[in-house]
Amino acid sequence: ALDVGHDLGHAILNARAHRRERELLTELRELDAYKSGLIATVSHELRNPLSAVAGHLEILRSMRDAMPDGTDRSLAAMERGTSRLERIIEDLLTFSKVGDPGRVFAPAVIDLREVVRDVRELHDLPARRRRQRVEVELPDSPVLVRGLTGDLDTVVSNLVGNALKYSGEGTVVRLVLTQDAREVALTCTDQGLGISPADQRAVFGEFFRSADPAVRRQGGTGLGLAIVGRIVKRHRGRVTVTSEIGVGSTFRVVLPSVEEFERAAAEAAFEA
Ligand code: ADP
Repeated sequence: ALDVGHDLGHAILNARAHRRERELLTELRELDAYKSGLIATVSHELRNPLSAVAGHLEILRSMRDAMPDGTDRSLAAMERGTSRLERIIEDLLTFSKVGDPGRVFAPAVIDLREVVRDVRELHDLPARRRRQRVEVELPDSPVLVRGLTGDLDTVVSNLVGNALKYSGEGTVVRLVLTQDAREVALTCTDQGLGISPADQRAVFGEFFRSADPAVRRQGGTGLGLAIVGRIVKRHRGRVTVTSEIGVGSTFRVVLPSVEEFERAAAEAAFEA
């Protein structure tokens, strides 16, 4: 009889711990939704006054012949500032959108080869201006995943954009897509600056930028890889980086095959 009472006590404690865990999880989800909403609202609110400033700068620029010496430099500095703010706001809006737990996520079956081809096309011209090249290696048959084309475009585009941005003239960026029964993998390899081991752990965080002056010389918000991380997670995948300073970096995105995605989604729905 003692044993039964003991087991019962345990069961009650367990049930309580379980309930508390669920409550905490709900609270965390609510906080996360609140944070996303706040970021989205603030970014939207900043957008209008900023476009007014940008508009008036344009007017001033058209009158610059009538203005005293030195105005030009001030105007240029203000323009750099506004376009930087515009980029941060755009990235913040994307960041809050892709992380919004309340967003309807209805992924379709898509061929990742199309995404890779489109992104290559997009970056081809700016790359060629710096004598850089984007090479792709794709399987002959479709590489199907469940996903949002726009989101996956963003993932690949951010990786290729960084690879080109943080590499010198005349370098090659290589995209390789492979698949097996359970997973699909896309690697993006560059011949650029490389990332130190300490920074490799930090690059997916919000607003992180390396302290390296060569990185700081390039424009950026530190949100590109945070956006990549969020989208990949939403697609039930993972993203990792390997790199060597002065040699280059490889970012690797792994996504589940269509069957795996559906199995995991069904499992999650059952648990919820
Ligand atoms: P951003 O490029 O706007 O700074 P990201 O989130 O895309 O922001 O990248 C964060 C940081 O990670 C960069 O500032 C840079 O320090 C590092 N990084 C990202 N991609 C590369 C790359 N391909 N080569 C070297 N460093 C990189």
